[in-house]
Amino acid sequence: MDEKKMMAARLHKAKTPLLIEEIDIPSPGPGEVLVKMKACGICGTDVHIALDGTVPTAYTPITLGHEPSGVISDLGDGVRGWNKGDRVAIYPQVTCGVCPQCREGRDGICINAGVLGMHREGAFSDYLVIPVRNLIRIPDNISYAEAAIMTDAGATPFHAVTKRGQVRPGETVAIFGCGGLGMNAIQFCKLAGAARVIAIDPSDYALERALRVGADIAVNAGVEKPYKEVMSANGGNGVDVAFEFVGVNAAIDQAVRSLRRGGRAVTVGIGPERINIIAPFFFVYNDLTLIGSFGSDIGDLERLMGLAASGKLNLSESVSSVIPLKDVNQGISDLEKKVGHPIRIVVSME
Ligand SMILES: [Zn+2]
Ligand SMILES: [Zn+2]
Repeated sequence: MDEKKMMAARLHKAKTPLLIEEIDIPSPGPGEVLVKMKACGICGTDVHIALDGTVPTAYTPITLGHEPSGVISDLGDGVRGWNKGDRVAIYPQVTCGVCPQCREGRDGICINAGVLGMHREGAFSDYLVIPVRNLIRIPDNISYAEAAIMTDAGATPFHAVTKRGQVRPGETVAIFGCGGLGMNAIQFCKLAGAARVIAIDPSDYALERALRVGADIAVNAGVEKPYKEVMSANGGNGVDVAFEFVGVNAAIDQAVRSLRRGGRAVTVGIGPERINIIAPFFFVYNDLTLIGSFGSDIGDLERLMGLAASGKLNLSESVSSVIPLKDVNQGISDLEKKVGHPIRIVVSME
């Protein structure tokens, strides 16, 4: 391969396989760096972009991938404080810095955000150009694969638990949906001091995993009214906080119904269904709160990386398999069909 060329997995048309193509290596402009990619997680959103076409991209062909980590390989003009060879995780959206949300540190909901692999070139490739303000240093004791999934599968539930749900010491929490995000949420709730975490999922396999990372009680969502099981597991009482990581109305409904009076539900899963829960009579009378939580702010990712470095996070179950770039289509399809109960499949560019 020409030394100015690289391989990239590009979407030309939804519902057709990504093409693994040779394209030009981009060069960093002022304030940007060129990162040699090491790892990039495959997200459920990639399934929606590539396989079912329900999440559109801003243009095609486009390189997908938005959970990246790598090593700095070149610096654009004016870059200070970073060097070639630095190990970095990449915050997956480029934000404007000047909208009201950015100005109050809520860059995760920047109105001008450009997400990698959706609105701009993504990271299923050998190299990526990115503004320096998107870089987070990877601690020595964290691998590239672990750092990569931290950027989305880690930071999204971290944001939901610490900033949106604001779990407090002694609280009781229910987690609806214990895939990659929900499983990390269980750990963040315990670290935030939750007295009891109840995990709800239709898969016994996922529930066993939830118990291994710290959930106190497991409830199989296959029963008719899971919220009743949650309450009976909690001494007949509703929980203080419920998180929903599925993105379907039935799960949001169950999360809200599982709350005590005055409780709050945080919904993180994304889906096309209309939210249709209980009547205002119950919702208002019980003083309930339903909160949406999208992605994360870069500050969340910075704090999460510090937490991971402290050794307090169990990362042993967070990466379920590592595959080469040429197998990315297989990885996306395995994630969709849940082949081998994947938590996070990570594409390695090493
Ligand atoms: Zn994602
Ligand atoms: Zn902004």
